[in-house]
Amino acid sequence: MGKRLYRHDNLKYWWVYDLEEIASILKVHIQTIRAWIKDDGLKTIDNKQPFLIYGLHLIEFIKKQNDKGKCKTPFDKLYCFSCKDARPPLKNNIAIEQRPNGLCTKAICRTCKSKMNKTYKLEDFQKLKRTFTVVDVSKLYDCDHSTDMTHIHDHIKTNQSESSQGDLIQWLHQTTNQNTTPPTNG
Ligand SMILES: [Zn+2]
Repeated sequence: MGKRLYRHDNLKYWWVYDLEEIASILKVHIQTIRAWIKDDGLKTIDNKQPFLIYGLHLIEFIKKQNDKGKCKTPFDKLYCFSCKDARPPLKNNIAIEQRPNGLCTKAICRTCKSKMNKTYKLEDFQKLKRTFTVVDVSKLYDCDHSTDMTHIHDHIKTNQSESSQGDLIQWLHQTTNQNTTPPTNG
């Protein structure tokens, strides 16, 4: 459901276009342009068939359409190219890299576990921190923490065996002491 971006750099402000021309320049179906006129407010010269459109109005319209496409993904979601839709990050974790043109964020799709990217504005940093859990990139891709868990588990086991061994020794010691204690009144 990704919205395509239309190139408007080969349209001329002072030109008048008919629908066939627009269709071939923008590589869209002529029905799409009819829908733009009918539903999305693309201005025609006199609102009469055959429709003619000023380049100026067309360029303005295309820019607006492109902006709509950009704002489609909600703030708390990233666009997943595998799911072809906006998805929340796995465990709400994102990693942020600062770039000259913005904050490049990476996350894992909660649905299909694909990698997702999104560029936020630099001033969105505080909002990002409030919305997501910001983690290190390495931690992001390390979804399975089994290695850490095993380590901790081993550690606990070692401690347990040490302490039970200690108890045993103590018990033996006590027993030995009892056995070797000479009778006081003998
Ligand atoms: Zn996905």
